[in-house]
Amino acid sequence: MLRTHTCGELRIQDVHQKVSLSGWVQRVRNKGGLIWVDLRDRYGVTQLIFEEGSSDKSLLEKAASLGREFVVLAKGTVLERTSKNDKMPTGDIEIKVELLEILNPSKVPPFIIEDETDGGDELRMKYRYLDLRRNVVREKLQLRHRMMQETRKYMDAQDFIEVETPVLIKSTPEGARDFVVPSRVNPGEFYALPQSPQTFKQLLMVSGFDRYFQIVKCFRDEDLRADRQPEFTQIDCEMSFVSQEDILNTFEGLTKHLFANVKGVELEEVKRMTYAEAMSGYGNDKPDLRFDMKFAELNDVAQGKGFSIFDQAELIIGICAKGAGEYTRKQLDELTNWVKRPQIGAKGLVYVKCNEDGTFKSTVDKFYSNEDLKSWAEKMGAEAGDLILVLSGDAKSTRKQMSELRLKMGEELGLRDRNVFKPLWVVDFPLLEWDEETNRFHAMHHPFTSPKKEDIPLLETDPGAVRANAYDLVINGVEIGGGSIRIHDRSTQQLMFKHLGFSDAEAQKQFGFLMEAFEFGAPPHGGIAFGFDRLCAIFGGSDSIRDYIAFPKNNSGRDVMIDTPSTISDEQLTELSIKVALAEKK
Ligand code: ASP
Repeated sequence: MLRTHTCGELRIQDVHQKVSLSGWVQRVRNKGGLIWVDLRDRYGVTQLIFEEGSSDKSLLEKAASLGREFVVLAKGTVLERTSKNDKMPTGDIEIKVELLEILNPSKVPPFIIEDETDGGDELRMKYRYLDLRRNVVREKLQLRHRMMQETRKYMDAQDFIEVETPVLIKSTPEGARDFVVPSRVNPGEFYALPQSPQTFKQLLMVSGFDRYFQIVKCFRDEDLRADRQPEFTQIDCEMSFVSQEDILNTFEGLTKHLFANVKGVELEEVKRMTYAEAMSGYGNDKPDLRFDMKFAELNDVAQGKGFSIFDQAELIIGICAKGAGEYTRKQLDELTNWVKRPQIGAKGLVYVKCNEDGTFKSTVDKFYSNEDLKSWAEKMGAEAGDLILVLSGDAKSTRKQMSELRLKMGEELGLRDRNVFKPLWVVDFPLLEWDEETNRFHAMHHPFTSPKKEDIPLLETDPGAVRANAYDLVINGVEIGGGSIRIHDRSTQQLMFKHLGFSDAEAQKQFGFLMEAFEFGAPPHGGIAFGFDRLCAIFGGSDSIRDYIAFPKNNSGRDVMIDTPSTISDEQLTELSIKVALAEKK
């Protein structure tokens, strides 16, 4: 070993020991006859000291020649420091170096490798291996590691078997585009990378595996955001002979286990809410329950008073921002401009201040008496000092806009504390979702999700109203996981494909293998997958999943460090029997 100790290990009781340390030069302070070097590795930083007189001259010269990020081996004696540094765990000691070996010099790094760095995002992505030397970045991956270990521990204890499923497969529809891989030995044919192992885990249930899990890479070609990467990781699970309740309990257990063992947080009981309640109460299928501000529908109290905007609206919703009655005119104008931005798209914002004396001051005083406004306030429990914000319009957009405004107010009022965790199961999702672009229904979760038995007749008459045995786990407004009880018989699966616009032949071509498997004794089954990167980000208190991925891609799906995607050689293309003729994008 090129070291006897790590750079985070030595303490006052080690004084007088002869030690060897290896690591990276964090900093050199050269006072002429006295040189200090901070030596860093994954475990910490230890101070090395070189002194004129007691160290020989060539040693001092060598120390003076060290640059940032040089890799060195230092042998010497542990001394008690005269001026101790209580901010460093090794701050009571330093190493008087007797032998210094430069294991490898380093170019000057393109940004400062400390917790606070001067490197911008792109630069740090290009030199991600240097960024990963920074404690704050490495710690995020250590958190990820812990979460993985604890997940395996819990799943194993619950009798789940970890099984790997293939990566070169055929499309599994999870609502995104596939990444495809050409096959050399089958010219003109392509594999698809899994958007999830969905069909394989169901086949494992047909095989009698009973409880499966896998920490697995999934690939989806979709537009990227802070919480999306083209390749990401799931904790993917499936169980046989279970009801929805069993799955919710098992994965509530996993969530609690992770919070307790990784974060030391006793998670409260996971609330339940139907999709319909989430949409009407919060305008969103993943409500952030760290704060209240539930929607109050005001149609019955706000219409018929001569205010034509409200009279013509399909829906009028108000929220109560507690204690925001103090908002100044300027702040309210800013809020109004904010909701009118194209990203939100509201036409305007009506507000009502609840004054201390029980009166109200609103932007619509002309149309509403104090009594009228009082009835609004009562609908949402608004009291003196509160601010009521009202939006109106068609139901769908108004809910969406109000959902954004609610989150913004939660943020402004400091109600979205990263150290508070409010988990929620959203249940009873619709089975199908109308897609305006393609003019047909899509599976809201995926085509293998079972409809609620009592809703099956509606498939013929009102498909949009059919509810699914599908559920999502939401924490603090982030969708952490989702799953469903599956269809496990051929005829229902066929019916589902028919409603999704597949011809029998198409369904057979794409999913014949699964439907056939259902004819060989498929047990009732269901499952769930957690977005592992998002779960890590929630634990780490961050909005971006990128920080929790060792080598992430940027917003255009590029890995700027290895510079990919990239073209391939003509030889490779010929081998694949492929000619590239780029068509214009539609
Ligand atoms: N395969 C689903 C997904 O990736 C999860 C599931 O239904 O188990 O969202």
